[in-house]
Amino acid sequence: MSYDNNNIFAKILRGELSAVTVYEDDATLAFMDVMPQSPGHTLVVPRYPAENLFDLDLTAGAAVLRTVQLVARAVKTAFNADGIMLNQFNGPAAGQTVFHFHIHIVPRYENVPLRRHTGDMEDSAVLQEQAQRIRAELARPGA
Ligand code: 5GP
Repeated sequence: MSYDNNNIFAKILRGELSAVTVYEDDATLAFMDVMPQSPGHTLVVPRYPAENLFDLDLTAGAAVLRTVQLVARAVKTAFNADGIMLNQFNGPAAGQTVFHFHIHIVPRYENVPLRRHTGDMEDSAVLQEQAQRIRAELARPGA
């Protein structure tokens, strides 16, 4: 499969579809997953047009990992998570449903099961409030 410029995340990156953004820089964008597996579930994508790990430019990959670390710290604090799970799927057989490389940041709690992957849509007002908590944490001096 080759990279499809019309995938959902490419449209979000071009501003053709809206997303609840928590962080962006020259190389990456982080936004709320609309079907969160846990409150605070965030996605980080490179601006670089890679379908998956195998066609990802490594400079773009390094930028993604930097953003993942930054945002994961903020999510962990903002949602008082016991741990943070990162998920990254390559190919339909591995569970990938959107074909632009991305890393999931998912807050986890002791003995709390996850909601289903691509399960129920979250209310947009809830996502906005959660994103605000993450942005506030990112803006905190020393965070
Ligand atoms: P994948 O299955 O490819 O690893 O993950 C794709 C993720 O994108 C899923 O967790 C799904 O909930 C999320 N998703 C699907 N469509 C949209 C959308 O239009 N906007 C946002 N923000 N997330 C989406």
